[in-house]
Amino acid sequence: MAALSQADLANLNATMESRTPHELLTWAKATFGSRVAVLSALQQAGCTVCHMVSTAKVGLDVIFVDTGVLFQETLATRDKVASQYGLNVITLGPDMSMEEQTEKFGVLYLTPDGQTKCCEMRKSAPLQKIKGRYDALIGSLRRGDGERRSKVPILAVDPKLNCLRVNILATFTDQQLADYIREHRVITNPLHKQGYATIGCNRCTTPVLPDEPKRAGRWRHLGPWAMYCGINPTDLDRGTEAAIDLPKELIDRILGRKVDYAI
Ligand code: SF4
Repeated sequence: MAALSQADLANLNATMESRTPHELLTWAKATFGSRVAVLSALQQAGCTVCHMVSTAKVGLDVIFVDTGVLFQETLATRDKVASQYGLNVITLGPDMSMEEQTEKFGVLYLTPDGQTKCCEMRKSAPLQKIKGRYDALIGSLRRGDGERRSKVPILAVDPKLNCLRVNILATFTDQQLADYIREHRVITNPLHKQGYATIGCNRCTTPVLPDEPKRAGRWRHLGPWAMYCGINPTDLDRGTEAAIDLPKELIDRILGRKVDYAI
């Protein structure tokens, strides 16, 4: 095994900037084979990635975290994407039901510290169940989402899952996303049409007004300091020192190093 840091990815990330989502998708499949999957909450951009995966016929599984308190519309969207796009959606969930958690810890999501703990238990911890199964996860974070995502890199290390995150839509603008969804009649969560710009748990998500930031509807009851759940490492500032451990030959393949192993 060898270390791959965020700093090591700088040059490769620069060359990835001009690649289309489809090219990034096929690069990921060619590089990681069966050890890459999609990670999605099946919001607009996530459903778009699923459509791209389906039409590219790259045969990737989709990892979906059901916190146990998602909207019915979100679960219906997951089922529709799976059946109509012919994708294998693997649903992960927390060990405790929300009722069990509340009995043990109280209503966590009503305070900033509690929200961090609740999101950790219900969103991030379930993902640990696939740790070691994949070397890369394809996400749908976009710079057009603004805030902390305004500079999201295409490739990012995820030390908690020890894998690479591949944000194939990082450079996709709001207009490109809207055009793609319209042209391809992408399945989307019907809640988007009811004013939900982004969609998470039913306890912590509200619609937004037209002049509000997209994420204003997330943890609105906690104020503007609660914006992200922590499931995406690039939403947290880990800097260029963050690193993962992967087989040396895989790192060479990722970085495009030509190595003569016969020497
Ligand atoms: S979004 Fe709210 S309910 Fe969902 S895991 Fe986070 S704090 Fe808990």
